[in-house]
Amino acid sequence: MQSIIDFFLSIDPITLWITLFVIAGISAGILSGYFKARKIQPGTFRWKAFRREIFYAVITVTVAAFIIGSISKYFQSVGIIQFNHEPAPWWVIALEFTLYFVGFDTWFYWLHRLMHKEPFYKWIHKLHHGSIAPNLMTTFSVSPIESVINGGWVIVFTSLLTVHDTSMLCITPFNVLMGLYVHSGHEFLPSWWNKSWATKWFISATFHDQHHRYFKGNYGGYTTIWDRLCGTMRPHYEADFTKVTTRPIRPAKAAPQAEAQAG
Ligand SMILES: [Zn+2]
Ligand SMILES: [Zn+2]
Repeated sequence: MQSIIDFFLSIDPITLWITLFVIAGISAGILSGYFKARKIQPGTFRWKAFRREIFYAVITVTVAAFIIGSISKYFQSVGIIQFNHEPAPWWVIALEFTLYFVGFDTWFYWLHRLMHKEPFYKWIHKLHHGSIAPNLMTTFSVSPIESVINGGWVIVFTSLLTVHDTSMLCITPFNVLMGLYVHSGHEFLPSWWNKSWATKWFISATFHDQHHRYFKGNYGGYTTIWDRLCGTMRPHYEADFTKVTTRPIRPAKAAPQAEAQAG
């Protein structure tokens, strides 16, 4: 018992609180039936597909991290990439983040559309589309070439601009978390997201999930803007988003009884 207490006391308090918060959130999500209600494609999880995704994820993360890391280190050594180590006001960080965000969205949309054309599809993008119902692991189940292409924006961005360290501390986790969210297979955004003028421009997990499910349309990485401008947004996306986000939430234990009554 003492060793368990010592273990918890040895963890840095912020990490401990975040871990406990995440565990509590996941438990509440399962028990309340929230995750089940917000599953975009219900009943589609397959262990066989998940194992395949883990296999490719391990290869890709290792290879792509090595390639992108090597290019970035080389560019830094010859002075092409430089970081600003000075403290920056919040609005400078926000501006740098916005430039990264808009730049990546454009980079991703057009390269993604190109990767849907042969022979690029067969060589590069087909592996990622092996997952029709995405889950968290799908995020990393991409060809190493595609990972390097997508990660290429960070190289270009940091070569063009002397970005502050602090901005990179926002950009890097955001990039990973966005990838995980859109492949989570669950919709966590509120039902008004698609109706509000302020938020409908940003993609949702449902948006990218539909790209995997139907293969055509919804190519955007961060926003729906390019898809709206180019007429590639799926016609039922907004209606389907509303369906997923307004499904009734039934607590985990009450579900069998409710189903029996319905039957
Ligand atoms: Zn695609
Ligand atoms: Zn995807």
